[in-house]
Amino acid sequence: MIIVLFGPPGSGKGTQAERIAAVTGTPHVSTGAILRDEVARNTELGREASPIMESGALVPDDLMVRIIEHRLAEPDAQPGVILDGFPRTVPQAEALDRMLRRNGREVSVVIYLDVAPEMVRERILRRAAVDGRGDDTAEAFTERMRVYTRETAPVVDHYAAAGVRVERVDGAPAIDEVTGRILSLLEGGRGGGAEAGRAAVSGDRSQ
Ligand code: AMP
Repeated sequence: MIIVLFGPPGSGKGTQAERIAAVTGTPHVSTGAILRDEVARNTELGREASPIMESGALVPDDLMVRIIEHRLAEPDAQPGVILDGFPRTVPQAEALDRMLRRNGREVSVVIYLDVAPEMVRERILRRAAVDGRGDDTAEAFTERMRVYTRETAPVVDHYAAAGVRVERVDGAPAIDEVTGRILSLLEGGRGGGAEAGRAAVSGDRSQ
C-alpha cells in the first residue's frame, strides 16, 4: 500500500506514521527527516535546504521529487510506504503519480489528519521545547501555515478529483485514539479505536 499521511504542520503526521509503520511493517518515509539528516551530515543538499527549512518555506519541487524517487526505488519500499510530508504541492503529487504509474502502482489512500490551526500552533511550540527543531519557532510556524494553506492543502483536492480514496481523521484526540482510527480505516473499517492504538504500539511522543 502507498499511504499518504497528510495534514498541517503539527497535526501528528510524524508520530502517527511511526506508529502505523511499527504495526504494519510498512516503511515510514518522512521527507522532513531525510532533509534533517542531510542537514546534520552537512551535505551539499543539507546546506541548500537548511536556510529554506528554518524559514518555514518549501524546498524546491525538483529536489524533493528526486529525493523521493531515490527512496521509493529502494528494496524495502517495494511492497509499499507511508509517506509523511510528501507530496506537499500539486506538482509534487503529479510527479509522484507519474513515478508510480511507470511501475504500475498508485496512491492507495490519503489519510488527512485534520487539526484546527490554534491546536497545531500550540503543539508545535510545545514540540520546540522538546525536540529543539530550528523551524518550530513562532515565526517559522506562521510561514509554514501560510505555505500549507496556499501550496499543500490543494493536494487533497488533487487526489479527490483523481478518485483516490481520501479519509479525513480528526487529529485532535489523544495519540492512541488517532492511531486506532487510522488502523481501523486501513483495515477497511474493522476493529480500531483507542484500544487498538494502545495495544499496537507502546511509547509516546509530544504530538
Ligand atoms: P516536516 O518535517 O515534514 O515538517 O518538514 C520540515 C521542513 O522540510 C518543511 O517545512 C520544508 O521546509 C521541508 N520539506 C519537507 N518535506 C518537503 C516537501 N515534500 N517539499 C518541500 N519541502 C519539504
